[in-house]
Amino acid sequence: MTVRPVGRRIVECVSCGHHRPHRARGWCTRCYSRWLYHGKPAAGPPESRLTGQDDLDHAAVHRATTGDHPPPLTIAEQRAAAQILRRRGLAYQTIATRLQCHPYAAWRYARPQETR
Ligand SMILES: [Zn+2]
Repeated sequence: MTVRPVGRRIVECVSCGHHRPHRARGWCTRCYSRWLYHGKPAAGPPESRLTGQDDLDHAAVHRATTGDHPPPLTIAEQRAAAQILRRRGLAYQTIATRLQCHPYAAWRYARPQETR
């Protein structure tokens, strides 16, 4: 029986430029997943950066992601923090605990925002 290596080849992702495990089409696993999630857009993986982040208190968002006594956050800040934590692979329950919100809220916040 042949045992395939567990890890994927690390490449510079054509989409995001990060050095990450390759998935397909020259994209990393994150970009490929994002592309799939958004219905395989012809233009490739949509931008992964959060939109409308200018009105965020980045320090508050960062403190929330580290569990460092998050101050009251705005919805946009909770959403940003939840999405960061989700990208790190945290479970919704863990995100909820860290952001001091209901797991359902964590799930809702961590979803990519609908296009307006
Ligand atoms: Zn990528």
